[in-house]
Amino acid sequence: MNRKELIKQVGNERIQILFNAAEKRTEIGDAALAKGYIKRLRKISTHYKIKLSKEMKNRICKKCNALLIPGKNCSIKIVSAHRYVSYECNDCKNQIHIFY
Ligand SMILES: [Zn+2]
Repeated sequence: MNRKELIKQVGNERIQILFNAAEKRTEIGDAALAKGYIKRLRKISTHYKIKLSKEMKNRICKKCNALLIPGKNCSIKIVSAHRYVSYECNDCKNQIHIFY
């Protein structure tokens, strides 16, 4: 494994760890700390040019870095006319549209 691959692998691991930690924090209602984790996760992602998985991306509020958990800190609306699901962040009211 070369250096570049190693950096990517370590970065990916750290992203996964931060994502899981943010998820746990959100679940117990510690939004501020969860946002801190997501902020770091995004920094690692841009710094090392590591793409976040679609699943991750779709669950992170781009505006306030909240990790969105339906029924906890975001509300879901299905807009069938336009074939997308709308996730609205309860914190900053930013919406994420996921097309299906
Ligand atoms: Zn938000």
